[in-house]
Amino acid sequence: MNPYIAYCGLDCEVCQARIATVNHDDALRQTVAKEWSELNGVTITPEMIHCEGCRMDGVKTVYCDSLCPIRQCALGKCMETCGACDAMETCPKVGAILQNNAEALGNLKGTNK
Ligand code: SF4
Ligand code: SF4
Repeated sequence: MNPYIAYCGLDCEVCQARIATVNHDDALRQTVAKEWSELNGVTITPEMIHCEGCRMDGVKTVYCDSLCPIRQCALGKCMETCGACDAMETCPKVGAILQNNAEALGNLKGTNK
């Protein structure tokens, strides 16, 4: 499995937070913080935007590191990703992502090009 694919199937390689982190791009950090604040209805500051990827070594956002229930569950079950889990098709945790994101589902199933 491509190491940039998160446990939930999202592609960290195209995540703006990761791009800002690896390029040390503070202007992009500001843009991402503003967008994520509006999207989530909480205050997210540019200083919080440090993440190298869900399954990559290195820094992660606090949410991705410790709060995301999908990552915590998959780590606890020693799954490579949720795609390796027998419960994937019926799991409400990863289902919250997969029901709206066919690309993430394809990443987990290995059916994307
Ligand atoms: S784990 Fe990090 S790089 Fe991956 S989607 Fe979440 S914030 Fe972006
Ligand atoms: S139970 Fe759900 S969140 Fe946990 S590893 Fe399986 S598919 Fe992923």
